[in-house]
Amino acid sequence: MSRRPLLVGNWKMHTTVVEACQLAAAIRQGCADLPEERDIMLAPPATVLSEVSHIVHGSGIILAGQNVCWGPQGAFTGEISAVMIQGAGGNAALVGHSERRQIFHEDDAMVNRRLRGGLDQGLLMILCVGETLEEREGGQTLSVLEEQLRAGLSGVSIAQCDRLAIAYEPVWAIGTGLTASGEQAQEVHSFLRDQVTLLYEKNVADQMRILYGGSVKPDNIDQLMAQPDIDGALVGGAALDAASFIRIMQFKA
Ligand code: PEP
Repeated sequence: MSRRPLLVGNWKMHTTVVEACQLAAAIRQGCADLPEERDIMLAPPATVLSEVSHIVHGSGIILAGQNVCWGPQGAFTGEISAVMIQGAGGNAALVGHSERRQIFHEDDAMVNRRLRGGLDQGLLMILCVGETLEEREGGQTLSVLEEQLRAGLSGVSIAQCDRLAIAYEPVWAIGTGLTASGEQAQEVHSFLRDQVTLLYEKNVADQMRILYGGSVKPDNIDQLMAQPDIDGALVGGAALDAASFIRIMQFKA
């Protein structure tokens, strides 16, 4: 089963309008000679989404929010909706990033509410899951992931799965310079795919893109993408440097 690779740059709380436009323009240029068809997604801060959308217009680059609220509008100070993302030129969103879970205490129920809201309003969604170092060392990795996936996907219909991708991001590897080895990540990705089969059906699991995230860099992307169940990458730090992200987009599997 061949799944179209998806490379996502998560800019987190970085870039002013000027910086974002420069970065987006450089990445757009780097897309021009990609070796084969692959999907590129950028998740800039909401404050620059609209400007970045003008820069990447017509390039095929997908734009995403870094999070999304469930309703279309309302009294939700500090939140953005799918309608607002779409109005700014985006059509996707991340949910459940470990920084949202850990720093802002978003639990599985809230992540699920956000995911279903985004899907219901037509976005392409990426559900992030991942274990902490403590959980890994306690032998709980698979049970934690199983629960994050089960609770996160609760109420998501089989028909919505074609607008869904999963990102496995071990918390101990995010922004730390530590990366899961290709084999470590493959083991988890294969487990997650089996869980998707149990929750839906094999056909859905076979088509579901499962991305790896956690200190992805130009020097480890090739070995990660060589794994059969790794279908792309969610990149933080290295996505803020155009040359690094372009090399990641140009991975050789
Ligand atoms: C992330 O932001 O999802 C991430 C994986 O960050 P980094 O690549 O910096 O570890």
